[in-house]
Amino acid sequence: MTTADIGRLDGLTYPTGMAFMAGQYMPMSEARISVLDWGLLHSDVTYDTVHVWNGKFFRLDLHLARFRRSLAKLRLHVSLSDDEIRDVLVQCVKRSGLRNAYVEMLCTRGISPTFSRDPREAINQFVAFAVPYGSVANARQLKEGLHLHVIDTVRRIPPESVDPQIKNYHWLDLVTALFEGYEAGAETVVIKDTGGNIAEGPGFNIFIVRQGELFTPEHGVLHGITRRTVFDLAATLSIPAHACDMSETELRGADEIFITSTAGGIMPVTKLNGTSIGDGKPGPLTRALFDAYWAKHDDPAWSLTVDYDAP
Ligand SMILES: *Cc1c(COP(=O)(O)O)cnc(C)c1O
Repeated sequence: MTTADIGRLDGLTYPTGMAFMAGQYMPMSEARISVLDWGLLHSDVTYDTVHVWNGKFFRLDLHLARFRRSLAKLRLHVSLSDDEIRDVLVQCVKRSGLRNAYVEMLCTRGISPTFSRDPREAINQFVAFAVPYGSVANARQLKEGLHLHVIDTVRRIPPESVDPQIKNYHWLDLVTALFEGYEAGAETVVIKDTGGNIAEGPGFNIFIVRQGELFTPEHGVLHGITRRTVFDLAATLSIPAHACDMSETELRGADEIFITSTAGGIMPVTKLNGTSIGDGKPGPLTRALFDAYWAKHDDPAWSLTVDYDAP
């Protein structure tokens, strides 16, 4: 991603795009599920999100594998094979014409034909779609850094209650925290786990840099693919990286902070609870990882090129 690319993220109309459900492709505006679907009524659903940048999927195999693991843990059944899901996602992107896309696959518990309360009787529903690429951080925030707030009043749902490795829509903790963060003048938030350590934010993981080394929370958070990518990149750049508990004191004392998500990649944080981090600009390690991350989008080992002209 270059500065010019960042500019292109603004001013997009949402949601154009293409969806696949009930075995058919359709414009995004026509993709709808019933209000009786348990995906809505009980948040009984899992999903995964991958992005396409400059016409290439990034690390799609890792996202497919995580989606499979989430489905298995929730006993949800998708009749398509991995290759078939991959084809559906490619078709959604191709038919949308989008070169930069946010691509989602999801499976809801569905509806029981007899309205029984037994989840085994529901007919699971697979949906996929491609919409314009969206980012946690806007163009200015990607360049100058985000203003982040640590929220202390609401804790992340503990892993004993909902397994965070199952990508899920249980976001009431995160959304409640977001409103508090906005009231405090911040742009996004991070919340703690029930043990009082730093956990994650709405759809992103968090990293700090301290004396040239990387640290990120390990427990009670989704192990994001972007988080994993940071570990992979850190290894090639010979930057030591650690997954371990992180206290609020450690976060506040960081030399650099960044957040990671498929929706935005590696995004600098330059203000924490109103106080500047370092010199108030994105730090050197954050920038090096940012550049390495986007450069990797052209590596055939990590990407899948969409052939927009193929049938
Ligand atoms: C998706 C998500 C992330 C980031 O994961 P990526 O695979 O990097 O996109 C982090 N936390 C939560 C709760 C998420 O849903």
